[in-house]
Amino acid sequence: MIPYGRQEITSDDIDAVTAVLGADFITQGPAVSAFEGAVAGHVNAGFAIAVNSATSALHIACMALGLGPGDRLWTVPNTFVASANCGRYCGATVDFVDIDPVSWNMSVPALRAKLVQARREGTLPKVVVPVHFAGQPTEQEEIWSLAREFGFRVLEDASHAVGAARNGERVGSCRWSDVAVFSFHPVKIITSGEGGMALTNDSELAARMSRLRTHGITRDAALFVDDRARGNPPPWHYEQHELGLNYRMTDIHAALGLSQFGRLEHYVGRRNEIARRYMEQLSGLDLQLPSVLPGNLSAFHLFVVRLAGNPSPARHRRVFETLRAAGIGVNVHYIPVHLQPYYREAGFGEGQFPESERYAHSAFSLPMFPTMTELQQQTVVDAVADCLGETGQSASSR
Ligand SMILES: *Cc1c(COP(=O)(O)O)cnc(C)c1O
Repeated sequence: MIPYGRQEITSDDIDAVTAVLGADFITQGPAVSAFEGAVAGHVNAGFAIAVNSATSALHIACMALGLGPGDRLWTVPNTFVASANCGRYCGATVDFVDIDPVSWNMSVPALRAKLVQARREGTLPKVVVPVHFAGQPTEQEEIWSLAREFGFRVLEDASHAVGAARNGERVGSCRWSDVAVFSFHPVKIITSGEGGMALTNDSELAARMSRLRTHGITRDAALFVDDRARGNPPPWHYEQHELGLNYRMTDIHAALGLSQFGRLEHYVGRRNEIARRYMEQLSGLDLQLPSVLPGNLSAFHLFVVRLAGNPSPARHRRVFETLRAAGIGVNVHYIPVHLQPYYREAGFGEGQFPESERYAHSAFSLPMFPTMTELQQQTVVDAVADCLGETGQSASSR
């Protein structure tokens, strides 16, 4: 089976991890700081907070933004459940904005229309979470201008978009957001095994997120509030100021992440090469191919194609099963989040976000990973071409 995604671990990665295992720190220590510094420097963000997953980063970002019961968080249905769940962890209500049929990212006109209505009804969101789907940057400057107009905070879920850029601005710079989050899960662009990072230019948000990743505890004497510790605190003193978590990244993971980070541009380059070849070789088929918006450099975490027209769920499934049977590890990213049983319980159902639902009935992620060979890619292309011929015929002969 040619998988849809796969990490590459080099001997340099193994050496970096082995070196940490013999060092003084194995949990959060100098490798975490070095990884944070490297990523923040690369994307030109003021602060980076490494944690044990992107899910954790989304959670502490929502907490630091003050999201709580009675508040609303909006994201897209076409994402991994974590983009929505971070709102639920804080007790907030989650709602969705439909996607654009071309970029497959949050539709800016749909967001504006929903905001106008929410302002009338007094139901404006506190936090909006745009997702850089498949590695394609969102129209972030437009979302940011709506944030100014309607008074919400912006948390970018950039789990797919490490190494992506828009108009020369790297995703993660937070030029058009309050916080951006990266994932280092093994299927993503670079990996630390498990891991995530929150980026921000706001020193208060950064301080709060670093506190929240470690139990809400501070060791900064300037912040102590305990009277007995003011002025001349004993050297062992620390204070818990709020209810935080243990979301620390270990130095073992950070060493792997930092080593991988050195190959980021190579990986994004490879992914774009593979994407270009797919675009050429699949162009004659009855498929909607990905559109990279002008000014965007996609990280191409995923290479998604859609069956053209309005395929029936049965045809979608038949194509999927035919490709799997041919050894092609296709996948569907994503089942719309609002149709998950957990969110249906909150009242969501079919028909509410039609673009996302149509998308989910027609989309496949084809294998895409930097070490994919030309031969493997040819195998995928041939299987897709054969399968569309066969399943198309069987569909029309019914
Ligand atoms: C992978 C992913 C996450 C979660 O990342 P973890 O590091 O596994 O917690 C969140 N959002 C999106 C869009 C993702 O693809």
